[in-house]
Amino acid sequence: MTGYFHDLFSGSKSLIAGMAVTFKAFCQPIVTTQYPREKIDVTPNIRGRLELVKDTESATHRCISCGRCARECPSSCIDLKGEKQEGVKGKVLVRYEYNFTLCSLCGSCVDVCPTDALAFSNAYELASFVKEDFHFNLLEEVDK
Ligand code: SF4
Ligand code: SF4
Repeated sequence: MTGYFHDLFSGSKSLIAGMAVTFKAFCQPIVTTQYPREKIDVTPNIRGRLELVKDTESATHRCISCGRCARECPSSCIDLKGEKQEGVKGKVLVRYEYNFTLCSLCGSCVDVCPTDALAFSNAYELASFVKEDFHFNLLEEVDK
């Protein structure tokens, strides 16, 4: 009989402790984000994927086609081409393709760029069943 009351007491104590935790959580503000209906604020340091930075003054990219980013990339994600054009000093960028499926987001390309022409976007909604969706033409994007 003593065992019965002991079990009853410890069971009730445990139930009350559990309910206290539930009630405390019930009264706290909701912290769950209803993604994707609600968007989350991400840190500016997030590494989404690469993009060419748009210069505010020239309204286009700052790439000088030096090729350092492509040479530094350990995964050969970057394929770019610059060419000489009449009347223009230096090379003009005519192609900048980036294969995100190979990219490890190491940041070497961003670090070596002498003109700060490259940056990581803060896009985090990157999902697709088609790998070609992750082949980006950065030159086309920046000039849009
Ligand atoms: S972040 Fe790294 S892996 Fe990705 S393109 Fe740049 S150098 Fe290549
Ligand atoms: S390192 Fe910078 S300037 Fe040189 S090709 Fe790459 S993006 Fe352009």
